[in-house]
Amino acid sequence: MKRFARLNTLSVLLLAASLATGVAHAQLAPSASAAPTQAGAPSEARKANIVIIGTGGTIAGAGAAATNTAAYQSAVVPVDKIIASVPEIAKIANVKGEQVFQIGSESFNNERLLKLGKRVSELLRQPDVDGIVITHGTDTIEETAYFLNLTLKSDKPVVVVGSMRPGTALGADGALNLYDAVLVASSPESRGKGTLAVLNDEIHTGRDVTKTNTFKVETFRSPFGPLGYVVEGRTLYFRLPARPHTMQTEWDIDKLDKLPEVAVVYAYGNVNPASVDAAVKNGAKAIVYAATGNGSVGDYMVEPLKAARAKGVQIVRASRTGGGVVIRNAEQPDDKYDWLVTDDQLPQKARILMALALTKTNDTKELQKILWKY
Ligand code: ASP
Repeated sequence: MKRFARLNTLSVLLLAASLATGVAHAQLAPSASAAPTQAGAPSEARKANIVIIGTGGTIAGAGAAATNTAAYQSAVVPVDKIIASVPEIAKIANVKGEQVFQIGSESFNNERLLKLGKRVSELLRQPDVDGIVITHGTDTIEETAYFLNLTLKSDKPVVVVGSMRPGTALGADGALNLYDAVLVASSPESRGKGTLAVLNDEIHTGRDVTKTNTFKVETFRSPFGPLGYVVEGRTLYFRLPARPHTMQTEWDIDKLDKLPEVAVVYAYGNVNPASVDAAVKNGAKAIVYAATGNGSVGDYMVEPLKAARAKGVQIVRASRTGGGVVIRNAEQPDDKYDWLVTDDQLPQKARILMALALTKTNDTKELQKILWKY
């Protein structure tokens, strides 16, 4: 008791001193208030204008019972209804909903990716839009995030958000995730950081984030850690994305009308060479081979992959391990076979990057540089 009393006296003294100097506010909210406001960005004096684009997923899902945390129907609740279910959002931003799709994210394809990206770009060009939040299924949120990260031409914040549990479930995570996503999209500090993914109190770069668990709310991970946290209404950044994104890349979503076909072939003991032939027959311009370990290729798979390369199809060695870089000319003589390796991109992310890269060049040396750059 005595100690509390002493602390209280101390607190009163500190508060009096800080009121006099104006220091308390800066200490209580170091991140939000310390950052300089950039031209055109919302300041603390006005609320940001955020468009929330709905595309479906579990964040728009509903289950039969509150105990259905993992079995439910996704993509059924309209985005305006999701926004209305989180009235706290209106206190931090002026938001407008727009339904672009109502699908499970497993149903994304190149056409839908391009359509979404173009609409986001159009909205970002509007001077009265400060940032975009995209509600999205979690299954492929990492692919959309990486794609937008590489192709949007704006410094304004774009945040993808989803949830692991539908709004009807006990312990639903969508409301807080959406609130946090709007906070991040409204923060001047989020400008120029590329496309971000906000889930489970964390801010991730769209380049790195990946789903690692089928049902847990802490499923999203970045191999090098998140960029920051969102906690108690505060956006706290601790790291910056190291790889080029948005304004620094060679792609512009407004100029992309079609993406080349890139297939992922998954390796396993007894993998069937016919999967390579099928990809070639289907018109793949590149095959990302989700190889075992550090991109190792079974002896009976080398010839089919070489044959595909001989037909002009680019071969990219990636890894199915979920982490680490693939070393060029180590497990396979890439120079000799004219093959490529990923950097640390997971196969599904390498697929996105290769599709974009092939819109620029078909030269293997140039393609390798792109894989190592982004
Ligand atoms: N299958 C759902 C989707 O990706 C899962 C989710 O959103 O969590 O749309």
